[in-house]
Amino acid sequence: MKKTLYILSLIAVITLTSCQSGLLTDNTAGNQIKLEINITVKAMQLPAEIAVPETLPTTIKDSTLLESWIRLYNNTQECRIWDGFSLTGRKLAQYVIDQDVVITWNTSTMYPGSWADRDNTGTLYINPSYQEETEAQMVNLVNEVAHELFHDLVPFNQKADSLYEEYLAFYVGACVSGQSTESFEHIDPTSSGSLAEWFKSNRHGAYLGRYEMYPEDIVAVSLP
Ligand SMILES: [Zn+2]
Repeated sequence: MKKTLYILSLIAVITLTSCQSGLLTDNTAGNQIKLEINITVKAMQLPAEIAVPETLPTTIKDSTLLESWIRLYNNTQECRIWDGFSLTGRKLAQYVIDQDVVITWNTSTMYPGSWADRDNTGTLYINPSYQEETEAQMVNLVNEVAHELFHDLVPFNQKADSLYEEYLAFYVGACVSGQSTESFEHIDPTSSGSLAEWFKSNRHGAYLGRYEMYPEDIVAVSLP
């Protein structure tokens, strides 16, 4: 279905009025930009406050996944990970371009769900259950893509999976999408007791016992 949509894509000339959003910081053309991009009609249905950046990743072929990337790019809210290190949706989106991260739907029945193939310089396989084209599901997709991108970042892409990394991936996804089913209040993930309790109380208890609590060398970070 997506493929058909993509084949039907057209060279869309999108004119965006931008000044009230203040989001087009990379745009030097003034209040109005004209983008000639090979993108589907779908992108023209973006909410008015979402700006399409001039440079789009060439590693995302699906229009829905590309829209989630555009929304990530538009998010400039700082999400503090630990002292001296924060992320924004835009930083994650830029990482996709800089590192040529491929983002695609997961068609595997052997490895279902969403996951990051970190051995292969970054390919994200996203759960196709997020393909439904509703606003709510798009926000969930932004959360999911950000979550998997976090797994692909240094230093975690060089470490064994850990509960600490998993918690931070959930946190980043929630922060940049503004939507979460988890609660992040009153948790100190540098405390193993607090971290374990978070997984239990947010219905992620299945992770406990699957991974080590912390990766080596990253225990002594301090969080806000
Ligand atoms: Zn994860």
